[in-house]
Amino acid sequence: MTVFWAGRAWLDGRVADDVRVRCDEAGRVAAVEAGVGSEDGDRRLPGVVYPGGVNAHSHAFHRLLRGRTHDGGGSFWTWRELMYREAARLTPESYQRIATAVYAEMVAAGWTSVAEFHYVHHQPDGTRYAEPHAMELALARAARAAGIRLTLLDTCYLSSGFGAPLTERQARFGDGSAEAWLERLAALRTRVAQEYPPGEVSVGAALHSVRAVPVQALDVAAAGIAAFGAAMPLHVHLSEQPAENEACLAETGFTPTELLAEHGLLGPRLSAVHATHLTRTDIELLGAASATIVMCPSTEADLGDGIGPAHALRAAGATIALGSDQHVLLDPLVEARMLEQGERLASGRRGRFSPAELVAAMTIGGAASTGLEVGEIRVGAFCDLIAIDPDSLRTAGSEDAQLVMSATSADVLEVVVGGVTRVANGVHAVLGPLSGVARTLASVAR
Ligand code: ZN
Repeated sequence: MTVFWAGRAWLDGRVADDVRVRCDEAGRVAAVEAGVGSEDGDRRLPGVVYPGGVNAHSHAFHRLLRGRTHDGGGSFWTWRELMYREAARLTPESYQRIATAVYAEMVAAGWTSVAEFHYVHHQPDGTRYAEPHAMELALARAARAAGIRLTLLDTCYLSSGFGAPLTERQARFGDGSAEAWLERLAALRTRVAQEYPPGEVSVGAALHSVRAVPVQALDVAAAGIAAFGAAMPLHVHLSEQPAENEACLAETGFTPTELLAEHGLLGPRLSAVHATHLTRTDIELLGAASATIVMCPSTEADLGDGIGPAHALRAAGATIALGSDQHVLLDPLVEARMLEQGERLASGRRGRFSPAELVAAMTIGGAASTGLEVGEIRVGAFCDLIAIDPDSLRTAGSEDAQLVMSATSADVLEVVVGGVTRVANGVHAVLGPLSGVARTLASVAR
C-alpha cells in the first residue's frame, strides 16, 4: 500500500487542499481524504496534482514525421503520402522501439493512458507474419516498458475508398474482409487477456473511416462488434476532411455520420475522431447517441483540417475527449488549451469551455472513450497522477484551477501510473534519463 500526499490536488472538478490518496496493491485508489496532514511514510508529491491525462487517439509511428513535413506546402492528402512512406518501413522490432520512445514521451508529458488506433497489421505486401499478432504485441510491450495504459484499437481497413481496392502502400493494413478482421480481433483479445492484467493493456475495435470500410462490410462489422459486448470500445475517423463527406454523399447519399447511423454504429460505445465537418443533423445524431468525440486540436491545426464544432456537440449531448493523433506535439495541457482556443477563434467568444471542462476533456472524456476506470482521483479508479509545477516561468501567478491554460508538459514534475512513479525529475524509471529517449526518437526519425 502506497500513500501519496499533495498540498493541492484536483478532486471533483476543483482544487482541494492537503489531500491523501491511498493506493492499493492493484494500483487503484483505496481512499481519498482532503484537509488532512501528511504522515510518516507518505510519498509527498510536488506542485498541484491532477489526474493523469487520457489520450484517446494516437498513431505512435506518426511521431516520425514531427518537424519534417513543413517545407513543401501541400495538404492533408500530401502529408498522408509521407506518412505511408513511414508505415511501409516499419517492422515489429522498429515499431516496438519507436512506440516505446513515443509512449515514454507521452508519460513524461502527463498522458497516463493511450488509445492506439492501430492499422499496420501485416507485412508490407499484406501477408501475415509467422506470429500473426507481431505488430500488436510490439505495441503492448512498448506500453509496458513505458508504463502507460494501452487500449489497443485494432482497426478494420479494407478499402482505399468506398469499395476501391487497397493501394500497394495500404496492403499491410488490410485483412481482406470484415469477417477476417473480426476473427483476428477476437484472437488478439484472447491473447492480450492471457498475457496482461486488465487495465494495463486492453483491446478495442476501430473502423478506419467510412472510406476504408465498404458499405456492405459495415453491417458485418457492426454485428461482430456488438457480439463482443457493450464494454468494447469502437472508434472511427469521422469527417476530418470535406473530401470524405463529398465522396460519401456521392457514393451512398448519406453523410459519414448518417451512414454510421444507418448501420447501427452510433451509440455510447462509439468514439468519433475529429468530427470536423458536420451538418446540424450529424451533430444531433452524435449527441443523441451519447457518443464521445475525440478532438485532436494540435493535429487538426497542423494538417489544416479545420475547427470542429466541439461546443455544439457537447451541447447536443456528446462527451468531449482529446487525442494527440499524429503527435505534432505531446502535451495534454496544450492539447486541452487548443480546444478552447479553437472555439474562441471560431466564435469570437471566450470561455466556451471552462478550465474544469478542459480538464474533464483531458481526463474523464478519455475514460469514456476507452472504458477504463481512470481520469479521476476517486476510490476504485486507477491511481494515475501528474504533479504540475505552479511556480515555473510559465505558471507563476496562475490560479491552481486554471493551470490548464498556462502550464505545459515542461511543468509536469512527476507522473504516477497505477501507484508507481514512472517519471520524475527528467528520468524515466525504466528507460533512464529522458535525454536518452530523445536520442532514440532522433535516431529512428532519420
Ligand atoms: Zn488518426
